[in-house]
Amino acid sequence: MGTHKIETQTVPDPELVNPHDAIIKITKTAICGSDLHLYDGFIPTMESGDIMGHEFMGIVEEVGKDVTNLKRGDRVVVPFTIACGNCLFCKKKLWAACDNTNPNAHLMEAAYGYSGSGLFGYSHMMGGYAGGQAQYARVPFANVGPLKIESDLPDEKVLFLSDIFPTGYQAAENAQILPGDTVAVWGCGPVGQFAIASAFMLGAGRVIAIDRLPERLALARSLGAVTVDYSENDTDVLTALKDLTGGIGPDSCIDAVGLEGHSTELQGVYDKIKTAVMLETDRPVVLRQAIQAIRKGGTVSVPGVYGGLLDKVPFGAAFGKGITMKMGQTNMHSYMKPLLERIEQNQIDPSYIISHRITLDQAPDMYKVWRDKKENVTKIVIDPWA
Ligand code: NAD
Ligand code: ZN
Repeated sequence: MGTHKIETQTVPDPELVNPHDAIIKITKTAICGSDLHLYDGFIPTMESGDIMGHEFMGIVEEVGKDVTNLKRGDRVVVPFTIACGNCLFCKKKLWAACDNTNPNAHLMEAAYGYSGSGLFGYSHMMGGYAGGQAQYARVPFANVGPLKIESDLPDEKVLFLSDIFPTGYQAAENAQILPGDTVAVWGCGPVGQFAIASAFMLGAGRVIAIDRLPERLALARSLGAVTVDYSENDTDVLTALKDLTGGIGPDSCIDAVGLEGHSTELQGVYDKIKTAVMLETDRPVVLRQAIQAIRKGGTVSVPGVYGGLLDKVPFGAAFGKGITMKMGQTNMHSYMKPLLERIEQNQIDPSYIISHRITLDQAPDMYKVWRDKKENVTKIVIDPWA
């Protein structure tokens, strides 16, 4: 309903619009760190009454006449990016760059040159699609996106295939990890957690996880990471990373924080002032640190979302050290099935990050808890029928 203003309301049920649409009755949905960028007003083109949410799963209720891969009653997880499956970019498996699913592409083109794919519940410039923090959603291109769950795995084990598990995995893959490498991960939220778990799956010898929230650092340790609490007295992250890597720096750095980075340093004040007077759109404290910390020739992977214009990013250091940077929205469709197989084989149980299970009516209050990281919150799952 506006910045910091979420309400639970009754709205008309979604209907089939195009022949390739499906209507999903949602059984579980979640609140994402990305939703905070909307809640906090960082992403323009939200309108009062927009339906939030892009992490959801459920049961197919109805399909359009061109939907051949799904039928009523199928159980599916829906990826947060919408892809047509047929354009140049989908053919290259760059699903998040789909050319056909953002009807408002012109809004993005003005700022970015080109638009990425449409996203559920993520502003009008990203397509204006109604989101999944609801009882029902319309899913376009239903032949392409939804992943069928044919086993009896509980919702909570597979729900995060809708975004954060593939996002953490792509972040680790983008980090170009070689066996035995040292990987530093900023942010121990859900995306950071799955980046840590995935870094180990891809052969990292050591993962150093950085955050300030004890419950999140504890989860990171439970995965085998070494942790650095940057809020502890006298902890300088760059010095800590040097000390832990014999002065060389990590082989790979993953920024799982993004544009709302928190800082205890002077640069935090600087970014707050500059964003307040609109001279900067993002607070890139972690990106700066990652570029400073990375070893020569290393790789910086950025799953954390950035939106606009960043100030004082040490590009000279990036150039001088000859680093690689990889980033972007997750190319969801490539990862969902292989990661489902890892869950089926018991290599990981993604539900370990859930701290709160709530109803839709509780969601407005819980957005605030989630934003302020209160009540030891690590991930909120909503049962829209409870
Ligand atoms: P979250 O807000 O729950 O977690 C962010 C974590 O970063 C918190 O634990 C916070 O304490 C920590 N943090 C803040 N400042 C820090 C600093 N200076 N150093 C170290 N840690 C710091 O969010 P999340 O759900 O884990 O998402 C993380 C980021 O990933 C967000 O920007 C989100 O938008 C993005 N995301 C990207 C994609 C994608 O497709 N690339 C998908 C999902 C989420
Ligand atoms: Zn998300």
